[in-house]
Amino acid sequence: MKLLLHTCCAPCSAAIIEYLLQRDIRPVLFYYNPNIFPFEEYELRKSELTRYAASLGLEVIDGDYAHNQWLNAVTGMENEPERGKRCSACFRHRLSVAAKLASERGFDTIATTLASSRWKNIDQIAEAGQEAVAPYPNLAFWNKNWRKEGLSERRNILLKANGFYNQTYCGCEFSKQ
Ligand code: SF4
Repeated sequence: MKLLLHTCCAPCSAAIIEYLLQRDIRPVLFYYNPNIFPFEEYELRKSELTRYAASLGLEVIDGDYAHNQWLNAVTGMENEPERGKRCSACFRHRLSVAAKLASERGFDTIATTLASSRWKNIDQIAEAGQEAVAPYPNLAFWNKNWRKEGLSERRNILLKANGFYNQTYCGCEFSKQ
């Protein structure tokens, strides 16, 4: 499997990366999260992820901070509650950029760490992932429940063990309010 793993932050990624490495799957990480606001928060989350990836010798592809583009993708949904339509559009936006990059660079599978958080709706993420790979016949979305097989417990253990910065809101300005 040639896997591009879309990663949202270090706390959500560590247990998934560990799971993959234990099975001899070395993912390339893609940090593409233009939803995060403000920019300082974006940089902080990115530096935690890149620090962790470097300690494991994993490659990180750094996506653009295209926050205005992301705002366009969620226009009219600013007041939606979390787990509502804005979040679906947010997942679709991020995963469609990941799928495009994966296809261009010859990956055969994408997955995302988004679904590891219990605050997010797994079905919304799965739907966005399937939609994202639909235009690319040679690319699959790995629709795995990353909270099972003890992964949620490992998430919390690795968060503490690595002293990761643990954010207090999902990411966008609307979730911060
Ligand atoms: S609350 Fe989180 S998932 Fe929903 S739109 Fe904002 S950043 Fe995206």
